[in-house]
Amino acid sequence: MSTDAVTMDKIVSLSKRRGFVFPSSEIYGGLGSSYDYGHYGVLLKDNVKARWLEAMVRERDDIVALDSSIILHPKIWEASGHVSGFTDPLVDCRTCKKRFRADQLGESECGRKPSKHPGETPDCDLTEPRQFNLMFRTRVGAVEETGVDVYLRPETAQGIFVNFKNVAQLARRKPPFGIAQVGKAFRNEITPGNFIFRTLEFEMMELEYFVPPADSARWHEYWVAERLAWHVRYGVRDENLRARAHEADELSHYSSATSDIEYRYPMGWSELEGIANRGDFDLTQHTEASGTKLEWVDAGTGERFVPHVIEPSLGLNRSLLTFLIDAYDEEVVAERDRTVLRLHPRLAPVTTAVLPLITKDAAMVEKAQALRDELRRHLSVEYDDSGQIGRRYRRQDEIGTPWALTVDEQTLSDDTVTLRDRDTLAQERIPIGGALTALLERLAAPWSPPPRAG
Ligand code: ATP
Repeated sequence: MSTDAVTMDKIVSLSKRRGFVFPSSEIYGGLGSSYDYGHYGVLLKDNVKARWLEAMVRERDDIVALDSSIILHPKIWEASGHVSGFTDPLVDCRTCKKRFRADQLGESECGRKPSKHPGETPDCDLTEPRQFNLMFRTRVGAVEETGVDVYLRPETAQGIFVNFKNVAQLARRKPPFGIAQVGKAFRNEITPGNFIFRTLEFEMMELEYFVPPADSARWHEYWVAERLAWHVRYGVRDENLRARAHEADELSHYSSATSDIEYRYPMGWSELEGIANRGDFDLTQHTEASGTKLEWVDAGTGERFVPHVIEPSLGLNRSLLTFLIDAYDEEVVAERDRTVLRLHPRLAPVTTAVLPLITKDAAMVEKAQALRDELRRHLSVEYDDSGQIGRRYRRQDEIGTPWALTVDEQTLSDDTVTLRDRDTLAQERIPIGGALTALLERLAAPWSPPPRAG
């Protein structure tokens, strides 16, 4: 199918049908912009996170990992500018009582006539835009009167900045070096739908890369290219990605330059990942507010400077959504419809299915289970002995399993199994004892998405 035919409805429906992602609190009617992740959703999310950490930390010498608290000292959010500046302009409709983002009226649905946008019907009565802070506020302390107001972090970055001195010393690194973090963030967003594109809580994968001030523009360019390459490496098609530099009036309060990596979503080109040049804004602000000097000092020469920061910031859930959309395909094979997720094998929730052809044949079942037990020590494996073989293959296609190993009658006589490839549908006979090696070799090979069917 063509890229344009992949609608968000198809992604929502597959996600629900196969248990990747579904609306949260559903038995109570759901909670807007909140979603829960089922079995395959969790496995896919874990793989996306692992590939990010691998590229950002494991494959490099210049980046270390951190896991900071979600609830931080409230003064951090004053110094960072979030208390005063982390706002969205919102308008209310006095007629339907719904609230909309002033900059997204064109994508929102009128509360009374969902086919129209807010402001488009004669009954719409919109207020002037007002700034609304996106941070969730809560209280710590056992006693209400003595408690302190705190915020759930809206980004993981500040936990990195306030640990700069600590980590720089422990890591024995000199700029350019980076600190990477993956963790939950929370934003009180008013959203126009679009499934998990924008939610109240989400996971962020953020890198703060500290560089000598004079080199910051060069490093900004470097990280835009590096991050684009990561999305392509894991299967997002080149033609659906682009980098777009922010205009001056779009820049966040902390940023001197930002480029968004945008993806061609069903609702149009939108931000997938932001890459900001935050300058020395954060380290300077926290130095002033805390009294602790956040700067880099060369122990040998005594040279000191406040590094500038380049920040690639990617929503894990938005990245997962992007992989789902780009992988989704429908085709007709032997006069039957097939829905398939052509996920990169290293992202797929299940690497291989193990299937006994005849589920009532005890010898086949025993062989298949022994194979499953061997493989699952190294790979994500799913054993399935329910239903007709064709239906079992389709189920694996829909969750994106790149390979299936089938144990059949021939296996009982010559210890070979069929290896079926999700994308080419080729079937090959391989020795059962070589199955693990065959899969590991395929997993390590470079992969790019096959052209979409149709
Ligand atoms: P926008 O302007 O679209 O609200 P933003 O520019 O404030 O987004 P950033 O602060 O740059 O977003 O966030 C970095 C990344 O975090 C985004 O590129 C996106 O991948 C992810 N992200 C931000 N907000 C959300 C959200 N509410 N739900 C899911 N992912 C999000």
